[in-house]
Amino acid sequence: MTKQTLSFQAEVAQLLHLVTHSLYSNKEIFLRELISNASDACDKLRYEAINDTGLYEDAPTMEVRVSFDKDAKTLTITDNGIGMSAQEAIDHLGTIAKSGTKDFVSKLSGDQKSDSQLIGQFGVGFYSGFIVADKITVESRRAGMKAAEGVRWVSGGAGDFEVETIDRAARGTRIILHLREDAMDYASAWKVKGIINKYSDHISLPILMEKEEWKDGDLIDPKDEKGGRQPGAMVKTGEWETVNKASAIWTRPKKDISAEQYDEFYKAISHDFEAPLAHTHNRVEGSTEYTQLLYIPGKAPMDLYNRETKAGIKLYVKRVFIMDDAEALMPVYLRFVKGVVDSADLPLNVSRELLQESRDVKAIREGCTKRVLGMLEDLAKHDVAPVVATDGVTDVDTTEEKAEREAALGKYTKFYAEFGAVLKEGLGEDFTNKDRIAKLLRFASSTSDTTTVSFADYKARMKEGQEAIYYITADTAGAAKNSPQLEVFKKKGIEVLLMTDRVDEWALNYVHDFDGTPLQSVAKGAVDLGKLQDEAEKKAAEEAAETFKPLLAKLKEALKDKAEDVRVTTRLVDSPACLVVQDHGMSTQLARMLKQAGQTAPEVKPVLEVNAEHALVKKLEGSVHFNDLAHILFDQALLAEGGMPADPAAYVKRVNALLV
Ligand code: ADP
Ligand code: MG
Repeated sequence: MTKQTLSFQAEVAQLLHLVTHSLYSNKEIFLRELISNASDACDKLRYEAINDTGLYEDAPTMEVRVSFDKDAKTLTITDNGIGMSAQEAIDHLGTIAKSGTKDFVSKLSGDQKSDSQLIGQFGVGFYSGFIVADKITVESRRAGMKAAEGVRWVSGGAGDFEVETIDRAARGTRIILHLREDAMDYASAWKVKGIINKYSDHISLPILMEKEEWKDGDLIDPKDEKGGRQPGAMVKTGEWETVNKASAIWTRPKKDISAEQYDEFYKAISHDFEAPLAHTHNRVEGSTEYTQLLYIPGKAPMDLYNRETKAGIKLYVKRVFIMDDAEALMPVYLRFVKGVVDSADLPLNVSRELLQESRDVKAIREGCTKRVLGMLEDLAKHDVAPVVATDGVTDVDTTEEKAEREAALGKYTKFYAEFGAVLKEGLGEDFTNKDRIAKLLRFASSTSDTTTVSFADYKARMKEGQEAIYYITADTAGAAKNSPQLEVFKKKGIEVLLMTDRVDEWALNYVHDFDGTPLQSVAKGAVDLGKLQDEAEKKAAEEAAETFKPLLAKLKEALKDKAEDVRVTTRLVDSPACLVVQDHGMSTQLARMLKQAGQTAPEVKPVLEVNAEHALVKKLEGSVHFNDLAHILFDQALLAEGGMPADPAAYVKRVNALLV
């Protein structure tokens, strides 16, 4: 193939522009990206060589070499991994295969900080080289291909790139960065080593750099030892040395890994700029043997709610990289967890299909799930500062424990704000761990301003005689808090949990009780406060039901298309009416959500409950506007819970007629 000039795919050109303009505050990540590509390339070769050892040619040890040339103003990263054919260079370096790039580009705001966060999540990879280079030359030969089938790819990072066939004896890829004037400090061993140390220490492959040593300058006067010298300099010795630890981080003992190293490894595998919230690192022995290093990110990715989103677990088998996004290793409701699982038992040629069926994988998934839940329980336990007892002594004793607590302060709250809604999916998905998950849930409450009330907190402060955990679901916390259904609970000082996540309705179908105490929606079924209601109240309610019988019958007739039933209630104090659903019916809120999502919801006719004490209800009897008032009563109850009358125009007409 003779030299030809090709254009970048439109999105690449756009992305390149963004990369070079929004990442300059975080320049050094380019090296992490390029070394990570080199490491991926070696992983790929190792993987392909499982079935074809010939691919190693005569160089079975894989390595990355980093070198610079101050005079030529270049920084070069060379690997002897899988390499690229000419076509692969065109495809992989000229287009973005990943779907959703356009989406991604359109999400960028122009704000540097948030954009670099997004770009980080997306992984700009190879193109980050253009942050420091105004030209990049790539020379490569794919393992197994002939020396004459090498390729050279050159681009200035604007609209196009050149490719041509070259002779290249060595297998693998060399990336030559022609440094920009303002990036010349990267042509320094000290600087480069520092970056490798920070970002790439965990890479299991040796990263080599040429050794340098100090050389004094020449004598100014060759005959005069004391006459002074030209300035000295570091010079290359021709000897290469390994500058990273070159062992996969998860294989090292915990005590040898610093918090920073754990964080950097997380950043490298997740493309996140921020440190993770927590990690757990364990070697599991027993019938299945594996090592897990799992992280909880500090922030939810933008596609968190998409259950199809890629899993964050990389699978290794005996330190050989097998695949990214190994979804079989983690349940869907923990899809936000990132990390590595290295199995000692799985076959190297394991496929995604095999993973789904493997018993070892099932055991690993269960083990990982338990670890993550354990990690969350730990965070939850230390989330709030221990209450200082009156004698000034808390149950914190050792300084280590104290430091641990302080570091964990507020972390669970942070976690919950980002991932709580996803965790709830586990109630329906993971029957074995349902109770553990239920304990981890936190809610807003009608009697507390914090959003950190757990079922256990609630239970501990239940009123004497209270037999259920009361909750209400609504679209927003405001709507929940002001709902008419809460009136009697407020009056009696009974706490109600306010559930406002979209998944709450669905998830609560799977939890009928907590620790033996039933959960009761305040918007479902007739209100039964049991022992919380005194005899006088019960009697008044019964009498009201009796005296209102004829009125209720009339209301029922007038609203027969809208309401399943009409009854007198004790749950209201200030409002004239509210809607509830039958005990096991689908809530009106869920029905509304399904409709919004374009799904067919079964037609739920709610029950209209009226407040016998309310002036409006008392006026109904004998009113000439009975029919209009009945409909208004119903429609207003619907409005009060955030719903919409079936015929809004008719509602307005009725109200206006009365106003006039
Ligand atoms: P990613 O690493 O996420 O796939 P990059 O932008 O970093 O994205 O790299 C794009 C692609 O270019 C890689 O997927 C790979 O196919 C190819 N590539 C980059 N660097 C190398 C390399 N050193 N050796 C072989 N292929 C490479
Ligand atoms: Mg990459």
